[in-house]
Amino acid sequence: MADYDFDLFVIGAGSGGVRAARIAAGFGARVAIAEEYRIGGTCVIRGCVPKKLLVYASRFPDEFEEAAGFGWTVPETRFDWATLIANKDREIDRLEGIYRRNLEASGVEIFKTRASVLGPNAVHLAGQRREVTAKYILIATGGHPNYDRALPGIEHVITSNEAFHLDTLPDRVVVAGGGYIAVEFAGIFNGLGAETTLIYRGEEILRGFDDDLRAKLHADMAARGITVITQDTFTRIEETDGGLIGHTRQGRSLEADKIMFAIGRGPNIEGLGLAEAGVKLGWNGHVVVDEYSRTSVPSIYAVGDVTDRVALTPVAIREGHAFAETVFNDNPIAIDHTTIPTAVFSTPEIGTVGLSEAEAREQCRAVDIYLSEFRPMKLTLTDATEKMLMKLIVDAETDRVVGCHLMGPDSGELIQVIGILVKIGATKAQFDSTVAVHPSAAEELVTMRTPTRQWVAEAAE
Ligand code: FAD
Ligand code: NDP
Repeated sequence: MADYDFDLFVIGAGSGGVRAARIAAGFGARVAIAEEYRIGGTCVIRGCVPKKLLVYASRFPDEFEEAAGFGWTVPETRFDWATLIANKDREIDRLEGIYRRNLEASGVEIFKTRASVLGPNAVHLAGQRREVTAKYILIATGGHPNYDRALPGIEHVITSNEAFHLDTLPDRVVVAGGGYIAVEFAGIFNGLGAETTLIYRGEEILRGFDDDLRAKLHADMAARGITVITQDTFTRIEETDGGLIGHTRQGRSLEADKIMFAIGRGPNIEGLGLAEAGVKLGWNGHVVVDEYSRTSVPSIYAVGDVTDRVALTPVAIREGHAFAETVFNDNPIAIDHTTIPTAVFSTPEIGTVGLSEAEAREQCRAVDIYLSEFRPMKLTLTDATEKMLMKLIVDAETDRVVGCHLMGPDSGELIQVIGILVKIGATKAQFDSTVAVHPSAAEELVTMRTPTRQWVAEAAE
């Protein structure tokens, strides 16, 4: 390996790149990493972490109301956006420092510059106008928010990137999209007091999730004061003296101070030199990889959101780790992308793992559905009526719990544990044999005895 400047050059210091660099260095590899923006990547700097802090902030009004039901006198509350953003920024700076120090302590050389691929073993460092060589190159450049570039007035909209740095909390916000980011930010803006509208092109938000979750989140968001518009999209954004007007296909004119687009994310491949280097790209520009994250060029690998797999931080981290094991520890690891638990930090929150009811009906011959909706005990002394939802999907032939879908307080925490059970193929009988924890919301998961509905595939003719 001595002929190269480095054994490994990583482009992008986000979730996947940082993990790969540190683990490879731990195996004795000479590793460098290039980052054009901030170390930590999307998740730490402008994704999961700052988002969750904003979600926490947005839920305090619920807690003030609940406290009153329990006898507390809650003085008049006031929210200050500038304080929240400053405190959030301080925490992000702290985390970025930890990421940098961890890389340095692992012996990874950091280049604070944009990098691109010059060939199978060569990288160009834009800031330093020089070329370095490496035996292996790892593309871990993540993704960026998609825009509808052809939409007139698109220059007036913001994305999640800008939402984290607004000077003030807008009075009126419209969020376009019906996926993770759209529902999470609609909940944040609404909880903090903005008049919030969500506009989604399809029939129901959160396509791909269990239908009961989708319908209930829609209804609960509406009950919390969010205007949820479906089957409509923007045709033009107009700037006015008082703000913005979003004109829609169905003839609506939605007035707002900010319009935020959350219509999916695309891979960061522009100007990277991948196609020129012979790296095969997929339908959307994603880097095509095999189960070991290897591209069509044997010395170039790719992990995380720049590939077309599952765009979640823990997945990028695993892919980065598995890459380092495979290439630098002679321990080939293929990542299993099935049965990944995930949380949507909407309000109310979602936790989900495994098959939706619709998927189970496609994949199993008989399905038992256990569904429970109940008012969490913490709300019983308040006027709040929002219910928690718990749903188990059971393959009736094997008795295996093949899906679990939760909505309500702490669903994101709960689904991590249920995810283990679904992953190892636990049966409904094993759930039932576990003694309940009382009083808790989670006890419902082991006390649902009778199927709410049963489905059996019609016999093939
Ligand atoms: P990234 O973390 O995006 O890192 C890529 C890095 O590469 C970036 O720092 C970028 O600046 C750098 N880069 C790009 N091109 C170059 C170049 N040419 N040269 C040098 N550097 C370059 N996931 C969850 O699991 N849970 C959540 O709650 C969650 N919330 C999210 C909220 C938001 C608003 C967003 C946008 C995403 C969220 N995600 C969440 C998804 C998660 O952030 C990503 O899946 C994860 O960050 C992907 O990691 P990565 O290593 O592939 O890329
Ligand atoms: P998603 O893929 O989750 O959702 C995109 C949404 O935009 C969908 O509702 C989609 O509609 C809609 N859409 C797509 N194209 C258009 C268009 N041209 N016009 C109007 N609407 C459109 O992407 P996000 O941007 O919300 O998030 C990106 C990814 O980041 C997520 O998929 C997830 O993997 C990750 N993430 C994870 C989080 C978590 O773990 N809590 C939080 C935030 C992000 P349709 O369904 O009809 O295609």
